[in-house]
Amino acid sequence: MDTEGIIEPGSCAASSNSLTNKIKLPETIQIGGTVYQIIIDGTLIDRHLAGELDEAKGQIKLSPEQCDHDKLCTLIHEALHAISRKYNIPLSEEQIEGLDDGLTQFVLQMMC
Ligand SMILES: [Zn+2]
Repeated sequence: MDTEGIIEPGSCAASSNSLTNKIKLPETIQIGGTVYQIIIDGTLIDRHLAGELDEAKGQIKLSPEQCDHDKLCTLIHEALHAISRKYNIPLSEEQIEGLDDGLTQFVLQMMC
């Protein structure tokens, strides 16, 4: 498998947070020398995925059915999968799920 998907999260508790209004997702992101295109992909809805890392295409796909906060969290989640592979750091799904929450909070506070 070239993809790493995550199950769609529940409703976004932080969507009313004013910080999330400042989120502007980049069109591309570079990890370990590889440039990934960030794509909003409606086909993830049918597959009940919030996001997917497609290493073969160099894409990180995000479901449109998420608030901005959750899109950021999903982007960080998929980026962590990419980092895990690029730098040969074997992170479990559970570890990535903890890191994505913590890093989302961290990134949002950097936007103040
Ligand atoms: Zn995952």
